[in-house]
This record gives sequence, C-alpha cells and structure tokens, in this order.
Amino acid sequence: MREQKSYCRLCFGFCGVNVTIDDNERVVSVVGDHDNPATQGYACVKGLELPSALYGDRRLWRPLKKVDDRHEEIDLEQALDEIAQCMQGIIDQDSAQSLAFYRGTGTFGSNVAALAFPALADAVGGQRFSTMTIDQSAKWVTADRLGTWHAGKQAFEDADVWLFAGANPLVSVFSWHTPVQNPMKRLKEAKAQGLKLIVIDPRECEMAKFADIHLQIYPGEDAAVAAGLIHLVLNHNWHDAEFCAQHVEGLEQLREQVAPFTPELVAARAGIGREDLIAAAELFASQSKRGSVSTGTGVDMAPFPNLAEHLYEVLGVICGRYLREGEVLPNPGVLFSGRPPRAEVRAPKRSFEKAPRSRVRGAVRLNGESATPTLAEEILEPGPGRVRGMIVSGANPMGAIPDSDQVFKALNALDLLVVIDPFETETTRLADYVLPPKFMYEHADITFGLEMSNLSVPYAQYTPTLVDPPAQSQLCDEGYVMWALAKRLGRGLNIMGQSMAMDAPPSDDDFLSLIASRSGVSFDEIKQTAQGGKVFDLPPKHVAPAGEKAGRFAVMPEDVADDMQRYRSAEPIATTLGVNSEFGFRLIPRRIREVSNTSCRDFPSAQKRAAYNPLCIHPEDLSELGLVDRQSVTVSSDNGCINAIVKADSTLKRGVVSMTHGYGGMPGQASDYLKHGSSVSPLISLSRDCEPLQAMPRMSAIPVRIDPT
Ligand code: SF4
Repeated sequence: MREQKSYCRLCFGFCGVNVTIDDNERVVSVVGDHDNPATQGYACVKGLELPSALYGDRRLWRPLKKVDDRHEEIDLEQALDEIAQCMQGIIDQDSAQSLAFYRGTGTFGSNVAALAFPALADAVGGQRFSTMTIDQSAKWVTADRLGTWHAGKQAFEDADVWLFAGANPLVSVFSWHTPVQNPMKRLKEAKAQGLKLIVIDPRECEMAKFADIHLQIYPGEDAAVAAGLIHLVLNHNWHDAEFCAQHVEGLEQLREQVAPFTPELVAARAGIGREDLIAAAELFASQSKRGSVSTGTGVDMAPFPNLAEHLYEVLGVICGRYLREGEVLPNPGVLFSGRPPRAEVRAPKRSFEKAPRSRVRGAVRLNGESATPTLAEEILEPGPGRVRGMIVSGANPMGAIPDSDQVFKALNALDLLVVIDPFETETTRLADYVLPPKFMYEHADITFGLEMSNLSVPYAQYTPTLVDPPAQSQLCDEGYVMWALAKRLGRGLNIMGQSMAMDAPPSDDDFLSLIASRSGVSFDEIKQTAQGGKVFDLPPKHVAPAGEKAGRFAVMPEDVADDMQRYRSAEPIATTLGVNSEFGFRLIPRRIREVSNTSCRDFPSAQKRAAYNPLCIHPEDLSELGLVDRQSVTVSSDNGCINAIVKADSTLKRGVVSMTHGYGGMPGQASDYLKHGSSVSPLISLSRDCEPLQAMPRMSAIPVRIDPT
C-alpha cells in the first residue's frame, strides 16, 4: 500500500486528496488532504466514492466499434484509422462544417482534453458545440452586448456584499467570480468578516440559508427583479456616477427602460415583498462599497435569460464594482500570467452579428460555438452543411439536451458518432466508436482550467500519474487521440498559440508544458513543489491604467431594449399559477450533492439517497392537489409528460416545483423511473419558447400540471 497526493477532477472544486493505492496498483481509497492549502481536507462524497466508479460496472476499458448493433473491441490505432478515414470522407463529400465536435463538463477533468479537443475542431474546421450553450449561453451574449472590464470584478474575499441570483455554489461547487474550492468554508470565513449576502432564488436553497436578504421570486421573473434593483439604485443616486460618466454609455436609456419597474410592480410580478426589494437595493448599492453579482443556471435556463443576465451585470456596472487602476490583483497568475490587465472597458464586440448563423432557425454562434439547442436539427434537416459526423468528449448529449426523443433520432442518423468517455452512458450506447480515456489518477494534470475560470489566490497543483490502468486494458490519452486524428487528416494542432510538433506522439507532459507555457512560475517548479497544492508567493501585480483602446459599457443597446419590451408584454408568471390553471405550476431544475449533471448517478451514495429524482413540491400545494408525500404522479407540459414521485419540500415557493436534471434512461425506459429516475427532457420543447437569438430553450420555469398517476 502507498499513499499519494493528488486532486479530484470530477468538478471545478479540484479538492486536494490523499489517494491510497494497493499492491495491485488499484486506487482503494480517497480522502480529503488536510494539508492542501486550498481545500484543507474538504472533499465531497462523490470524490470520496470515486474508487467504486473507477473499477465499477460502467467503466470502459478498451476501444469499441459498433458492428451489427453490438459493440466489439477494436485496437485503438485501427479505430483511429477508420475514424479519420470517415471524417475525411465527410469533408470530401460535404465540408468540414458537416463535422461536429461536442464537449461537456467532463472534458474539463483533463486540461489536456479541454484544450486539445477544440484545437482539433479548429484544425479540421468543424463546428464546435458544448454544454455551455445549453445552460449558460446568456453569459456569452451579455459579454458580447454589454462589454467587459479588463481587470475583472472586485474579489469576493474583500467584498462587503455579494448578490447571488439563481446560483447555489455550495452544491454546484461552481460559480463565476466566487471561490469554488471548499466554498462552504470560504463563505463562512467571509460571513465572519462581515460579508452581507443577497440571494435571489425561488427556493430556500443551501445558499439562501446564509442570506441576509433572500428574495424568493417566481422563476422566470429575474428580469423584473434586476430591473427593479437598477431602478431603485438610479432613483436614489446610489450608483457610482463618476464611474458611469467615464465608462458607461446609454445610462439615460437604461433609466427610461427600468422606470416602469417600480417596487410595487416588481413585488407583484416576482411574488416578493416590496420592502425586501428596497432593502436589497440599499444593501447592495448604498450600504456596501465592494462586492458584485454572480448568476447561475437558474437565471440562464429560465425565460428571458439574455435580458435577466444583462440586467444583473448592469447592476454591478452602474455601481462600478470593478478593480481599479493601481489595485493589487488577487491572483497575479501562476499557470497563466499575462501583462497586467487594464482599468478599462473592453467594448462590446457583438461578434455574434459577424459570425455565420446556423442554417437552423438562424441561431447565432457565440464564442466560435454553434448553438447546442440546434444540434439535433442540424443533423436531421437535409441540405448542404448537414452535420453528418460528431465527436463527443466528456459529455452525454442524450442526457443533457432536451427532447431526448429527437436527440435519439438525430444521433442515430449520423454517419459517424465517436464518443470519448471513460464510462458507459446513454450516448456511448449509440456510438459507432467508443474511445475510453484514462480517468483521473491515471494521468498527470495541472489546475490550469481552475485558474482560467475562477481563482482569486495564486494557487496551483500538479498531479502525476498515480496508477497505471490494468494490463489488459487499452485506454487512450485524449491529447494523443486529438494529435493522432489531426496527423492522419494532415492537420496540425495549435495549443496556447503554439504549434505542436507533429513528428512524434506527444506525452501528457508535452501537452502540460505547452499549456503552462505562459505561466508565472516555471512548469518544472510547479511539478516539483506543488504536488500537494501550493499558494505561491508572487510579486504583486497592479491594475494598469486605461489605454487607447478603452471602450464603454453599453448598458441599454437597442436589442436589449427590444428584449425589455418583449418581457414587459409577456404574461406575468404569477397570473398563470394555481391548481385550477391548465399548467398551474412552474418546474425548475435543482442540483443535489450526490450527482453532477448526468454523472455519478451510480455512485453508492447516489444509489442510496438519490436513485431517482423526485418531484419536490411545497406541502401546502401537495395537500391542495389532494396528493400525499411519495405518491406517483404524472407531470405534463404542453410538450410531453413524464412520471415522477412527489416529495414534500417546504423550501420551495408555492406554485414552484423542482426536479434534478440529468436523470432518466434511454427513450423507452421512461416507465422504469424508480431505477433510472425521470428525464425532464420530454417536458421541454427544443423549438418553441426559445430565446430568439441563440435558440436557448426554456429549461426552467416550465409550465406543468401534476396529476395522480
Ligand atoms: S467537490 Fe467533490 S466532486 Fe468536486 S472536486 Fe471536490 S471532491 Fe471532487
């Protein structure tokens, strides 16, 4: 037996762990590493139970090829030859745009995969898709329409207020701009130092329990709440007028557009107390000087996500909650260290207006990615540019994309479906080729993705390979797969702006040293000193003055004003609720600690505590419906219906029900919901009730009715 330090990569928590390995080179236990300076011993149940998954029934050990509707083993090099040949055939017959590259959050469990996969897509010229455009595309739209502050937001660590809307990082272990490593401890520390917390959520979620003000709103009414907060801030002159004069355009148009959102209107529309809204505005803008806003999927999956996301960001803008010239950056950069950022606005790029649109409903491309809600139609609709081949990395589109019947049909219509996944999923079952990669502890890695997305301390960790896969297995290195396909197709790979050598297969460390090529600390030093995680003592870096390219935030461009009008004319959700309405409840998603999106459902704790996903409902709604706890029900929307079991939950607002997404099996397994849970997918239309710009479907605040089965 031996013990080695590493870190868990199941989610962005990147918890430092001690891994025990037996004499047969098998991981036998994982515990939190109390010496890790970032996570200090914390690791959640999923990370602790990882050994059961590493060697569990769903683990895949060798490449597979579909032959006569069955998967047979195939040698990796043979599989790569055949895949490359098929890709080239599609390119020759149609174009590279007929190849789709789809990645999910699983890809980020390997930094090599996270960079090499899009690098292959770009080298080939294929269409990139990801789960980002199925749950948080509004964030990209907002950055494109509003602009961004180059030096970033003020840090959570020295904030005196923070507003979370539709975000529950204590369970999701991710939030933009706030700590993701051991978030409970970080939150308690901040609260002990006086942080005030405003939480906007239809449920008294784990985060709301720490809130100084909890606005328990109706889902889908975030735009009203954000507009109401802005209205109050501007009316009381609580905004940062000097910052606005220097960096904002459209303030008067903003003032006009939010004027109708009086506290009375917002209170009625969102189902909250007028005084609570006023108190939240005053706490955020008047009583506090530092702190900002973080939104989550609760905002971005509900109706009017682009507008709501934009307005929440604007609240931070008009209060000037950004790092200013001369301030010390919280993290000068360990694995990525560029020039000091400037105290300036990067003007709205509106790149979605310039990029080619999807042939499906004219959906825009964001950040170089096609809109995932259009993927099934991109495959099924005949015509030039039809997607015929798809490579999937770290994702389970069968479980993640709504309307699973249509997705099932689409994936079956592909000429080539390659899935890179360590585990059997609903999507691998449909694949022509399955390439299982090495999973965590079987490959080296660094915390690059964590630093690039959200890290306000100069922290990094390197993990070497801890165990080799069993001798009889043939697991792939994902970086090698991308390199080998690029080579077979006569392309190169570009990682971090550098061309990879294509003459000899790269090792993990070749990739990692390229990824760390712009680091503030040498890759060798990180390798040698940060295997247990390390906070580096780096010289301070200060925010630089604005340069000649400084732009202005566009707080109310015309298309956002159009969104405002569209929202104002929409029927308020409060008026649609009630047991006598046709669809009198609103269904929202709900994260739970035991599972992560479509992953971990087979882990022991998930099997014990969350084998299926109940329909949670307020006890008074339950009794008004004449139902009892644990009763079987049918949940119907205007798109379809599913089975569920009700569970009383007084943390929900009345009229709102919740289910965890990512459950359910293949189409046809729907009735077996005690074993697989229920997929909410049939309740969601991929083509109706969408955000027009990027075709984002309504995945929260879904109108439903509930009937006894
Ligand atoms: S929070 Fe859990 S799943 Fe996420 S990195 Fe930590 S141990 Fe792994």
